[in-house]
Amino acid sequence: MKKALIFLISIVYIALACSCSLSEIDRVSKQLSTYTIEAVYDEENKRLYANQKLDYVNNEELPLSELCFHLYANAYRQGAAIRPINNHLLEKAYRNGMSYGGIEIMKVCVDGVEVSHSVGGTDMDILTVPLSDELYPGERVIVDIEFNLTLPNVWHRLGYNDNSVNFGNWYPILCVYEEGSYKKTPYYSNGDPFYSDCANYEMSVTVPEGYKAAFTGRAEAVIEGGKTVYTARAKAVRDFAFVLSKGFNVATAEVEDVEIFYYYYDDPDYEVSLGIAVESLETFNRLFGKYKYGVLSVVQTGFAHLGMEYPTLVYISDAANADSRKETIVHETAHQWWYAIVGSNQVECAWLDEGLAEYSTVLFYENNPQYNITREQLIESTLKSYKTFVDIYKQIMGSTDTSMNRAVNEYASETEYLYMTYIKGELMFDSLRKSIGDEKFFKGIRKYYKENAFSHATPQSFIYCMERGSGVQLESFITSWIEGEVIL
Ligand SMILES: [Zn+2]
Repeated sequence: MKKALIFLISIVYIALACSCSLSEIDRVSKQLSTYTIEAVYDEENKRLYANQKLDYVNNEELPLSELCFHLYANAYRQGAAIRPINNHLLEKAYRNGMSYGGIEIMKVCVDGVEVSHSVGGTDMDILTVPLSDELYPGERVIVDIEFNLTLPNVWHRLGYNDNSVNFGNWYPILCVYEEGSYKKTPYYSNGDPFYSDCANYEMSVTVPEGYKAAFTGRAEAVIEGGKTVYTARAKAVRDFAFVLSKGFNVATAEVEDVEIFYYYYDDPDYEVSLGIAVESLETFNRLFGKYKYGVLSVVQTGFAHLGMEYPTLVYISDAANADSRKETIVHETAHQWWYAIVGSNQVECAWLDEGLAEYSTVLFYENNPQYNITREQLIESTLKSYKTFVDIYKQIMGSTDTSMNRAVNEYASETEYLYMTYIKGELMFDSLRKSIGDEKFFKGIRKYYKENAFSHATPQSFIYCMERGSGVQLESFITSWIEGEVIL
């Protein structure tokens, strides 16, 4: 295990150079579409004015006559039918009272010619751009989208709060095209209801001087005329997020050719937090296969939940206490393997990434005995909690549905969603490991990681890899868990 070097820096410039070999990323990125975004942040009005150029490559097997984009920011608008925040969290999220935002599409051009776009979908959350000619597989098209984003005052993925400004799920992002149509699911309040393809990103954003910023990928800053211009780049990532704050300190470490940045403004134990990120990366590198991006930014920010994952960047709530901060850093770092690199449909099969991220937390403690938390302790308390939930649920509802193969909006409550995807998911992965043994289990997991990197995994591809990796028939074992037939 390589010892991490930890030191504090206060400058905002981050070197672009990286000694690690990113040949796999370079190879994958060549076949992907590229978003180039130029934006200006208007601090006074809490707005972002942006021009987005998408160099789109049709990597599908069919010709396309239109492109569809999610406008997740519209879920924050006044009058939205589907809101991104559950009722029980409203007070925690809207600390200063209700506040609204949204995205306004000003102009869309296809190959330089303005087209008449439409905004619709379930809840004004889909932008449809018609293409003048059918775009055949392998062909490219340039789509320019001019948009204005209004930020709500909310402690959530997108919005400004007392300490920071969060830009998560903020720009028009292509819907996944699957089985002949676009996946247009709205911004449900349960889970992380996102699903997107990997792409390359280049972004420049002008902010008032004094703001420091954390981005997906790597960034550099130039200060001129009272403004800071950040330029950030990321290749082969399935989303792009950034966070601004005037209070950020930055602590850094380097581990196994990956630079880790911890952005924080209120963490007296910042070295401990950074250390957890380092140990998580080392542990998961060893267990699952190497992290593929050369950078990871762990970002403390105002956020009503404990944490949120984006490619190479994770939010950690500034309201987390020392223990929950640790666990959240581990869980969100695990999402770099299970969500960022191995993508999956987080709307339709959330257990696949959430269950694995939660079980990765168990693996972290098991492999880092200095924290004095054992696998047995964790599984026992998780099982107890699960059984209590099912008992109470049965008493109240008369019966209980313990299936895990429901879409996020099909769970009766956020609690039920959490129990069936995180908690039961963790128990399922541990049970699977017990039944086939460590060697076969990790062989299967490593195969799953390797074969699904940068693409979308499904429950079927998970079963396939686990069976091929372990040499054991596992379909009925796994489906009986997923379909709710296993009684615990
Ligand atoms: Zn998660």
